Amino acid sequence: MIKVSRMNKHFGDLHVLKDIDLEVKKGEVIVVIGPSGSGKTTLLRTLNILEQPDSGIINIGEQSIDFSQPVSKKEKLKFRQQTGMVFQNHNLFPHLTAIENVMEGPVTVQKVSKDEARKKASDLLTKVGLGQKLDVYPHQLSGGQQQRVGIARALATGVEVILFDEPTSALDPELVADVLDVMKELAKEGMTMVVVTHEMGFAQEVADQVLFMDEGKIVNQGSPDYIFNQTDESRTRQFLKRIQ
Ligand code: ATP
Repeated sequence: MIKVSRMNKHFGDLHVLKDIDLEVKKGEVIVVIGPSGSGKTTLLRTLNILEQPDSGIINIGEQSIDFSQPVSKKEKLKFRQQTGMVFQNHNLFPHLTAIENVMEGPVTVQKVSKDEARKKASDLLTKVGLGQKLDVYPHQLSGGQQQRVGIARALATGVEVILFDEPTSALDPELVADVLDVMKELAKEGMTMVVVTHEMGFAQEVADQVLFMDEGKIVNQGSPDYIFNQTDESRTRQFLKRIQ
């Protein structure tokens, strides 16, 4: 579903992603962990070209982009439509209701009729437990509810991959579980997911693969059991010891 080959990204002199190779199969949940500044968010953002790599190749589904060649805006937009992104701070439009936020992508990008988009948005908001909140504005929702609208919005265009960038780290602890439950449900349904998170319980329970990043590299990867219980790799062990 996703294949990344020898991808590099610099911010000025800072070499943030170093020769990244990554493969994600359809239906897999990949959790990316690692110290602050190791490049986790940048890696995720390159997958839908919110950050453009300097070199390397990314394949998602049927599409492929080689970043050592010039990439047109049209090509980027088409590529981006294959993935949904859920941000730390949901990024909802404050002047639109929950249902309007979810309808926005299908109506403006995919030119779906408003009636059809409304029906689908209503179904998705019901699925994330917000069937009673269709017509309220983001400020009338809790952080966890806003984040669930963000997930419904990411799903609305029918993408096959969702990228989650620390989706629970801005939430009060009591709101985290509801968001993680929605993510677990999506995983069960076979959604392909790449998740940057500090929620190690989620990683242990849901991930098919855990990637450990440090200083712009994928230093270690494997099943949750391997990463959390078996690996001898010293930086992974040090990191996990520090956060426990
Ligand atoms: P955290 O866990 O703290 O969110 P992270 O592992 O997600 O960290 P990134 O956000 O990917 O790390 O950042 C990797 C490095 O790139 C950091 O040194 C960061 O300061 C730098 N960086 C990120 N975005 C930019 C940017 N737009 N311009 C310049 N430097 C950036």
